[in-house]
This record gives sequence, structure tokens and C-alpha cells, in this order.
Amino acid sequence: MAETLEIRTTCAIAGGGPAGMMLGFLLARAGVEVTVLEKHGDFLRDFRGDTIHPSTLEVMHELGLLEALLSRPHQKMQGAGIEIGGRFLNVVDFSHLPVQCGFIAFMPQWHFLDFLAEAGHSYPGFRICMNAEVTDLIKEGGRVAGLRAKTADGPMDIRADLVVGADGRGSTARDRAGFVVREYGAPMDVLWMRLSRRPDDPSDTLFRVAPGHLVITIDRGDY
Ligand SMILES: Cc1cc2nc3c(=O)[nH]c(=O)nc-3n(C[C@H](O)[C@H](O)[C@H](O)COP(=O)(O)OP(=O)(O)OC[C@H]3O[C@@H](n4cnc5c(N)ncnc54)[C@H](O)[C@@H]3O)c2cc1C
Repeated sequence: MAETLEIRTTCAIAGGGPAGMMLGFLLARAGVEVTVLEKHGDFLRDFRGDTIHPSTLEVMHELGLLEALLSRPHQKMQGAGIEIGGRFLNVVDFSHLPVQCGFIAFMPQWHFLDFLAEAGHSYPGFRICMNAEVTDLIKEGGRVAGLRAKTADGPMDIRADLVVGADGRGSTARDRAGFVVREYGAPMDVLWMRLSRRPDDPSDTLFRVAPGHLVITIDRGDY
């Protein structure tokens, strides 16, 4: 059996989604040594979000990251129309918002996470371990003292002053900490799908509403 790799850091974060990666970036930027453990080998998750909203873009602006982010491929949506019973109305216009970017940027979430990882790596205290699945918390002296993970190279124990669970809705860290989830339910089910797009198809983002149903079409270039 492979020996357990022992690591020490100041902050250990379970999960390299938007929450974990942004926290990792912010801590590293503040000079705090941080390690993010992500169970997948890359950030590629289809249908995990495509929209970066004006408020998020504003945060990226405040962090000095906006220009670099928007130099990556993306589409802009300044407004949206709605078709009700066959009548078209232009109902959303982001261009008047008092922010740097009065639009939604369409960029797959994995590009956004790749970008945050790159930005994090510009600080010496930032570390991300891919293919590292958190399996348990290390508890010592009545406190959470670290994370236990399985990696391709064998087990890993990472001790830290602060441990953060950002491992999503099925969080192992939350479960092992004994936190109880408060369920709110979901008011609707959403089905995401990809359809090929012909060059002469309309480019507007469109909401089509009928009793009990809503279809949203988003122009993503060729689909
Ligand atoms: C279908 C869909 C479409 C969406 N569209 C948008 C959108 O267009 N715009 C938008 O802003 N938001 C969108 N969202 C919401 C957005 O995806 C979430 O709000 C966001 O991903 C939550 O981030 P998070 O970091 O908290 O969790 P997550 O994104 O779930 O990240 C958790 C991370 O932890 C990792 N992980 C899990 N378990 C472990 C473990 N044991 N050890 C190590 N790592 C682990 C996972 O692999 C994952 O990378 C969408 C969500 C869904 C489901």
C-alpha cells in the first residue's frame, strides 16, 4: 500500500468549483498559503453554467482581473426578449446597469475556473491538487485539523489551520463535520440541452413562456 503523503498548509479547501477556486485565489493574493483539493483531473463539466453575470464581472473588475478574463473567448448578451403567446417583447436591458460591464458574458464554467487557477498560480502560496478526492476530515483535539484525500499517488493527509468545505451540494466535508442540510426544495425542474444552430437562426436570447412551461434559447455560436 502507498505511504500517506503528509502536507501542511494554512488553509485547506475541499473542492475546486467557483467557491473554492475564488477563495483560494483571494487567500493566496492576501499572502495566505492555501491548497485546493479537487477530485476531478480537470474543470470540464458540461452544463454547469455558462453565464457570468454583471455583478460577477464587477467583482472581477475590482480584483483587476476583468480585462484578462474578457480576453478569453466569450459572447456578450446585453438584453433579452420574451415571446408570450406569439408576441415578442424586449424585456431585459443590462446596458443601463451602473457597472463596468452592462452585459452577461457567456463563457463555459470550466474556462472561468481555468482562468482562476492561472490567476491563483501567480501567487507563491497558491497550490491546487487535481485528482484529489477528499474522503474525510482529520479531527484532533476536538477540532477539525485537516483533510484526508485519495489521490492517484495514494492517500494524502493535509493539515491546516483553517479547513473549508467547498465541495458542492453532496459535500463530503459537510457530511463528515455533521452539519445538517436544510432542504428548501426546488420550484421547477430545468432541462439543459444543446441543439445545432444554423447561421440564419435568430441570435437573440429569447424566453418563450406558456402556461406551466418556459423555454430559453441562448446563442452559443454554432449551437
Ligand atoms: C445545470 C446548471 C446550470 C448552471 N448555470 C449557471 C450559470 O449559467 N451561471 C451561474 O453563475 N451559475 C450557474 N449554475 C450554478 C453554478 O454552477 C453553481 O452556483 C456553482 O457551480 C456552485 O459553486 P460551488 O463551488 O459552490 O460548487 P460546485 O460548482 O459544485 O463545485 C464543487 C467542486 O468540488 C468538487 N468536489 C466534490 N466532491 C469533492 C471531494 N470529495 N473532494 C474534492 N473535490 C470534490 C467537484 O468536483 C467540484 O469541482 C448552474 C448550475 C447548474 C446545475
